[in-house]
Amino acid sequence: MHEVWCSGCGAHVADVSGPTHRYVPSAPGCWQVFGEVQADEMQRFGYPPAHRLVVDAYMAQHPGTGEDRRDRQSVFSHLVALCAVLEQSVPAGSATRLLGLVVGSRTDFPVLTRSHGPGALTVRHMLGADSLDDYGARARDWAQAVWQSWAAEHEMIRAALAGTAVADSPRGEPATRRRHATTARPGGAAR
Ligand SMILES: [Zn+2]
Repeated sequence: MHEVWCSGCGAHVADVSGPTHRYVPSAPGCWQVFGEVQADEMQRFGYPPAHRLVVDAYMAQHPGTGEDRRDRQSVFSHLVALCAVLEQSVPAGSATRLLGLVVGSRTDFPVLTRSHGPGALTVRHMLGADSLDDYGARARDWAQAVWQSWAAEHEMIRAALAGTAVADSPRGEPATRRRHATTARPGGAAR
C-alpha cells in the first residue's frame, strides 16, 4: 500500500482517505492508527491510566496553525496535562481535573511554538505492546518525546499549572491570581 508522511507527527502511515479531526491536523492514515490504538487499548486493557498520556501525546503532537481558538486551547491543555503527569507525577485522573481548572480559568490561549520538530516517537510506537506494563511504558516514552519537542514553552506551561494549583488551594491566593474571578468556584472544585 502507498504510504505518506503525517504532516503533524512525521509518522509513516498508509495513504488512505478518511476522516481527521477538524483542528488536530494529521494524515487520515495517522488518525486511523490513533483510532486503532485506542480501540485495541480498550479491548485489551479497559481504560488504563496510560490512556490519558496517549491522548495528550497525540493531540500535542498534532498542533494546528493556532488561528482557531479551539486549536490553541487544545495544544495548551494537552501540554498542561503532559507536564502534570510527566513532571509532577500527578495521577491521570487528577490530571483531568487539573486540566479543567486550568482551561476554565482562562479566556484565551497563546499560540505555542514547537521548536524541536515533532519528537522522535509517534503513535506508531504504541503498536505491538505485549502487556499493560509495556503499553504504559511506551505511552510514557512517546509522551516524553512530545513534551520535549515543546521545550521552548515549558516554563509557560509550568507557570500555568502552578498558578492554578495556587488558586485552587484553600490557603492560596484565589482572587488575586485569577483574572476572571467570576469563573472561580468558591472553595475550589468540589469534584
Ligand atoms: Zn500524525
